[in-house]
Amino acid sequence: MNIIEVCKALYNRKYVVGSGGNISIREGDRIYITPTGSILGFLDWNDLAIVKLNGEVVRGKPSSELNLHLKIYQKREDVKAIIHTHSLLSTYIGSRREIEMKTFEGKHFIKKISYVDFLEPGSLELAEEVSKQDGDVIILKDHGIVALGKSLEEAYIKVEVLEEQAKLNLLDLLLNSL
Ligand SMILES: [Zn+2]
Repeated sequence: MNIIEVCKALYNRKYVVGSGGNISIREGDRIYITPTGSILGFLDWNDLAIVKLNGEVVRGKPSSELNLHLKIYQKREDVKAIIHTHSLLSTYIGSRREIEMKTFEGKHFIKKISYVDFLEPGSLELAEEVSKQDGDVIILKDHGIVALGKSLEEAYIKVEVLEEQAKLNLLDLLLNSL
């Protein structure tokens, strides 16, 4: 699984639409990140921007959420991959109530969800607030989610599992309202 394949999967499965979302991986002192304003489903390797951990751009035009990625990597040595999506139900439900883990899989892959009130996308304030959180996944209220992993695969699994759990939360809400 590589970053381009993950971009296509997220786009094809509608975890991002239009030019939303961004992904990065960290290899040593280098961060590979999707470019600003791009459609994740149509990227290739040459489009990826490369940035050093101190923020120095080596190549390309990094995502407008570069600061969010950098600040997380600077604070959390264990994080090697970050996926930011606009997953529909995770974002919608997570903006209004806490998402409960309803299955073994949910509890296994997502130990803690953090919640951050709406702050301007791409802003330094948002980057700082998100990097203070210690969740596996961070809900950016009325915006999207940020999934962290020790690997790209782990972060990707969290995106999918969280959305599944959000669906189960919605089903419970619907059944309980009958
Ligand atoms: Zn976003």
